[in-house]
Amino acid sequence: MTKKKPVFDYLLCVSCGICAQACPVSAIGMMKEGKSGKYRNLFPELVKDNCIGCGRCADSCPMDVIRMEEADSES
Ligand code: SF4
Ligand code: SF4
Repeated sequence: MTKKKPVFDYLLCVSCGICAQACPVSAIGMMKEGKSGKYRNLFPELVKDNCIGCGRCADSCPMDVIRMEEADSES
């Protein structure tokens, strides 16, 4: 069984929140802040246990920030 999970490239993210709205199971919250206070905007954060690996978030992102990766690795 190979379930996928979204991985975000925060350097490209514009904090629009479209991915969070597109998720059918509310597995994305706009709550992750940039490191060291460098960014003021909130970024999408995955609630891994909720994610069903559907890929809608990746399809919806206008900036191509989200990549679907195999979820079998730890982390
Ligand atoms: S892959 Fe699907 S379930 Fe998982 S965060 Fe993206 S939209 Fe939500
Ligand atoms: S849709 Fe893309 S650009 Fe918008 S918040 Fe989500 S990851 Fe960032």
